[in-house]
Amino acid sequence: MENIRFKALEATLNRKPAVFKLPSGKISDYFGEQTFSNVSMQEFLPGDAYRQVLRSIKKGEKLDRSMADQIAASLKAWAMSKGATHYTHWFHPLTGATAEKHDAFINPMEGGGAIENFQGGQLIQQEPDASSFPSGGIRNTFEARGYTAWDPTSPAFIMDNTLCIPTVFVSYTGEALDYKTPLLSAIEAVDLAATAVCRYFDKDITRVYPTLGWEQEYFLVDTALYMARPDLLLTGRTVFGHASAKDQQLSDHYFGSIAQRALEFMKEFEYESHRLGIPLKTRHNEVAPNQFECAPVYEETNLAVDHNQLLMHIMQKVAKNHDLTVLLHEKPYARVNGSGKHNNWSLATDTGINLFSPGKDAKSNLRFITLLVNILMAVNKHADLLRASIASAGNDLRLGANEAPPAIISAFIGSYLSGVLDKIEKSKVNGKFATGGQSEMNLNIPKIPEILADNTDRNRTSPFAFTGNKFEFRAVGSADTCSNAMMTLNLIMADQLNEFKKEVDALIKKKIRRTEAIYQVIKKYIKVSKKIRFEGNSYSQEWIDEAEQRGLSNLHSTPEALKAYISPSTVKLFEHNGILTRRELEARYDIKLENYVKKIQIESRVIGDLAQNHIIPIAVKYQNTLIENAKGLSDVLDSKTYVKLSRNQIQTIKEISEHISEVKTNVDAMLEERKKANRLDSFKDAAAAYNQNVMPYFDIIRRHVDKLELLVDDEVWPLPKYRELLFIR
Ligand code: ADP
Ligand code: MG
Repeated sequence: MENIRFKALEATLNRKPAVFKLPSGKISDYFGEQTFSNVSMQEFLPGDAYRQVLRSIKKGEKLDRSMADQIAASLKAWAMSKGATHYTHWFHPLTGATAEKHDAFINPMEGGGAIENFQGGQLIQQEPDASSFPSGGIRNTFEARGYTAWDPTSPAFIMDNTLCIPTVFVSYTGEALDYKTPLLSAIEAVDLAATAVCRYFDKDITRVYPTLGWEQEYFLVDTALYMARPDLLLTGRTVFGHASAKDQQLSDHYFGSIAQRALEFMKEFEYESHRLGIPLKTRHNEVAPNQFECAPVYEETNLAVDHNQLLMHIMQKVAKNHDLTVLLHEKPYARVNGSGKHNNWSLATDTGINLFSPGKDAKSNLRFITLLVNILMAVNKHADLLRASIASAGNDLRLGANEAPPAIISAFIGSYLSGVLDKIEKSKVNGKFATGGQSEMNLNIPKIPEILADNTDRNRTSPFAFTGNKFEFRAVGSADTCSNAMMTLNLIMADQLNEFKKEVDALIKKKIRRTEAIYQVIKKYIKVSKKIRFEGNSYSQEWIDEAEQRGLSNLHSTPEALKAYISPSTVKLFEHNGILTRRELEARYDIKLENYVKKIQIESRVIGDLAQNHIIPIAVKYQNTLIENAKGLSDVLDSKTYVKLSRNQIQTIKEISEHISEVKTNVDAMLEERKKANRLDSFKDAAAAYNQNVMPYFDIIRRHVDKLELLVDDEVWPLPKYRELLFIR
C-alpha cells in the first residue's frame, strides 16, 4: 500500500476550503432562537406558569407538579414549531461528556396513525437505562436504575431536530451520578452563605450567584492528517513526533491574523453557538501554530458550564464541514504549548453588584476586602482539593510545563492589594471603632483605585489570579468540564463564608461592634492565609523551592492529586454542607482513578502498537536499503577507499540498529509492567503503578522513535510529522 502519510498530505493539499455564509442581518436576529428562552417562554406559556418557572429559576423554588403538564405542552408546541421531532434529557454523567437518549414525540394511536405527545412527567423525570455510566459501585446494574430530573435553571434547547432538556442524573437511593447535581448544590450553598455575609453591609441583597466566563483553547488539524495518526485518533495526542524545525519560537502565531480556513470554521461554530444562546464574543490565534481560543461573555455558573459542554460538542460537529478536527486535549503536541480552559469566576448580587469589584466607598471596600480575604482563606484551606478538581491524565502533561501554572496552588492578588492586606494585618485598630462612623480612616482600608479593574497588574503564571474584578482559575484542562472546578470553588467559598459569619457573630455577641468584629476576623485571616499568596513568577524553579519551604503541596500526578477527594477535610466539607456523602466522594475518587488507568493503558497500547507495527518495520526496511547500498559500494570500490567512504553510512546503520533495539527492548519492558499493573486489585494501586512504572517508558520509547524519524528517509516515514500537523492550514 502507498504510504498513508503521503495520501493524507495529498488529500490535504487538494482541498477546496469550505466557505461558511453567515445569514444576512445581525447576530441579535438569531441569538438564542434555538432555546426555550424567557422570550419564547413568555410567548408559549400561560402567565402563571411562566411566573412559576421564573421563580423557580431565580429563587430555586420547587415547581408545582400540576404546572408540569402545562409547561410540557408549551415546550412541545415551541419545539415542534422549530421542527423538532424528538426530545431527550441532556445530562452530565461522570464520564465528563454529555449524554442523551432521544425519544420521538410520536405516540401510535389505535387503528393506525399517531399523535405527537409529551407530558409533564416526561419533562420532569425520566429513567434512562443508563447502567453503563460510571457510578463507582454506587449503582450496580441489578439495583434500581438512575433517573434524570429537569433543571429549569438551564433553558431547554434544540439541536439536530431534538429538544434537549438539561437534567440532573441521580440514583434512586438519592446519590448523585453526575456533575450537575453537586454543582447546583454548591451554587445554592454559596448563595446562602454569601448573602448572609453581604447583609452585614447591605440589607437589599437577597441573592448571590456565582458567575463564570471560560476561555476555551483548542488546536485544529486537517482531518486527513488526523486520520493518518492512530495516536491522535485514539488518545487525542501525539505520542511520537520530532519537533518541527520551526514551531512557536517566533511567537508569530499569537494574536496573528486568523487563517481563512480556520476563520470559516469559527464563523460557523459561532453561528451555531449564538443560535443556542451561547454568548461567544472573542476569538484569536493562540501561541502554538494552529492553536486558537474563544471566549463568551460570562454568565451564571450553571448555565456557563452547560454552554461550555455544548460548545465543545458543536465545535467538533461543525469542524467536519471543514474537513478539520478539533483537538481539545491538554497536550496534543510535545514541546509546544498545550491548551487550557481558564475559568474566570466571580460572585454577583441580585442588586447588580460584582462582589469582587473594589468599591467606591469605605463600606463597599470593606465588603470587597471581606470577600477577598475569605476566598484566600478558602483556597489556603482546600488547596489540595482544588488541585484534585482539575486533575486528569491530560492536564498532568500541561501543568508545570512552562505554558501553564505548576501543580502548586497559589493565589495572586497584585502588588496593590497585597499592600492593602499587609497594612490591615499590621494595623492596630482595636477599640478605635467605638467612637466613629465608618470613614476610611477608621477602617484603615485605603481607597482602592479603579485602575485595578483594567487588569494592569497581571500575573499570567499564577493558577488563581485576581484580575481586577474576578479571579481567573487558570489550571483547568481544555478538555475538562468546568463543572468540577466550579463546584469546588463555590463550595469552599460557601463553607468559608459560613465559618466567617460564625466568628463575627460570636464577637458581636460579646458586644463588639459589627465593623470592628469583621475587621478583627479579617486581620486574623490575612495572617493565616498568607502562605497561599504568591506574587512572583510561578513558572520559576525558585517558586517551586519556596513553595516547598512554605509547606505547599506540589502534586505532579493525577493519582497523587486525587487523594484529596477522600481526605478527612474534604469529607467534612462535603458532608457538612450537604453536597456529597463520603460514599459519593469515594465513588468519584474511584471513577477518576479508573478513568486515569484506562487512559494511560490506552496510551501505552498505542505506543506499543505504533512502535512495533509502524516504526520498527519501516526503520528495518530503510536500514536494509542502507546495508544493500554499503554492500554495493564494497563491490565497486577498493577496500581502502571503501573503508574511508562508507564510515558515515555504517555509522548511520549502527545508530538505526541501536534505536530499533532500544525501542523493542523498552516496549517489551513496558508490556511487562502493564501486565503487573493490570493484576492489581484496586484502581488506586493500578493508577499508581501505571503512573510510576508504565509511564516512564513513554518518554524513553519516544526519544528513540523521534531519533529514528530524523534518520529514516522522509519518503517512507508513515506518520504525519509535526511540521505538517502544525503548519498545514
Ligand atoms: P483575558 O483573560 O484573555 O485577558 P478577559 O479578562 O477580557 O480575557 O476576560 C476573560 C473572561 O472573563 C471573559 O469570558 C469574560 O466574560 C470573563 N469575565 C469578565 N468579568 C467576569 C465576571 N465578573 N465573572 C466571571 N467572568 C467574568
Ligand atoms: Mg485568560
